[in-house]
Amino acid sequence: MLDLAIIGGGPAGLTAGMYATRGGLKDVTMFEKGLPGGQITQSSEIENYPGQIEVVTGMELMDKWPDQCKRFGLKHEMSEVKQVVKNGEIFTLTLSGDSQINAKSVLIATGSVPRPAGIKGEAEFFGRGVSTCATCDGFFYKNKDVVVIGGGDTAIEEAIYLANICKIVYIVHRRDEFRASPHEVEKLAKFDNIIPVLSHTTEEIVGDNMGVTGVVVKSKETGETKTLDALGAFIFVGRDVLNQTLIQDDGSFLCDVNESGEVKVDLKMKTSVEGLFAAGDIRIDAPKQVVCAAGDGAAAGISAITYLQ
Ligand code: FAD
Ligand code: NAP
Repeated sequence: MLDLAIIGGGPAGLTAGMYATRGGLKDVTMFEKGLPGGQITQSSEIENYPGQIEVVTGMELMDKWPDQCKRFGLKHEMSEVKQVVKNGEIFTLTLSGDSQINAKSVLIATGSVPRPAGIKGEAEFFGRGVSTCATCDGFFYKNKDVVVIGGGDTAIEEAIYLANICKIVYIVHRRDEFRASPHEVEKLAKFDNIIPVLSHTTEEIVGDNMGVTGVVVKSKETGETKTLDALGAFIFVGRDVLNQTLIQDDGSFLCDVNESGEVKVDLKMKTSVEGLFAAGDIRIDAPKQVVCAAGDGAAAGISAITYLQ
């Protein structure tokens, strides 16, 4: 029987684990299906984590977090949690392989995954030219032309990362201005190999047996279509929360969620179910920043201690 089961080993889960164990909880296990660190490990450049003056990659930022947590007794189990249910006061987690473990309290910090754009050819060419991770796949397009789809901070940051490797980087965005913060957008001016294609929708990703060969875009102003010749299509159109573990056998959610599936919490990261907490990108109104996820994790860890006391 665990005191606290933490599901997800990103900034939220890791920080919660540190606060819970350092605050005196004895049996705290963090279930992380991959390596701890979370989605930020895919980022090529972090410059807004407080106190971190040098620009670092996401991998570098998260490198020491697991060791700091282990020092206070946090255990890490590399397993995927399939489902969480509550019977009476006790939570039961079903893990991959169908083994089960009980816990007195649970924190869900499973974050989010890239949202598909719903473009024709996106699924067909996924892994064969279509990617959602520039740091993972950018190198395959050294000195080649690529297309980035999206207009938020991620699209701009990743386009800049690709511009240092690729010949031409088109950024196709459906509106006439980017959603990304002005600070990010200003950086684009330094790269003469980044070509913004604004007010264009993406109609189709085309290719052949070898993979992607181009992206068909349509002007919202003239209705004209053209094909941007490119071997890679990087899609950054937002993210969907990972809440599947909360789905019960009857299809309902274990706790209250909003229309986007984000978990409803109060300022102490308590959900509508006693003893169940949520933190980071998965919660309602998340600013989707590392520092905020870590702050949520701290609040959730402290709340779990109070609950168990
Ligand atoms: P995540 O980091 O998503 O971690 C969740 C973890 O849970 C993952 O490791 C996942 O493997 C695990 N998991 C999921 N489901 C299960 C399951 N069922 N069982 C076990 N484990 C599971 N933020 C900034 O502040 N500055 C930036 O510059 C910045 N740049 C970014 C660039 C990119 C490319 C991306 C994708 C994000 C960026 N962000 C940035 C946002 C930031 O990464 C997130 O806000 C933050 O990582 C959220 O932390 P989290 O702990 O809530 O979730
Ligand atoms: P986002 O901010 O939600 O932006 C998604 C972009 O994709 C928007 O421009 C949107 O267009 C476009 N889009 C959505 N669906 C589309 C579709 N089907 N086809 C084409 N375009 C589509 O997502 P994000 O950039 O991944 O950022 C997520 C969060 O992480 C944000 O809060 C962001 O601030 C944060 N983040 C921060 C940093 C940083 O601080 N440096 C870096 C990365 C991410 P519209 O604009 O028209 O809606």
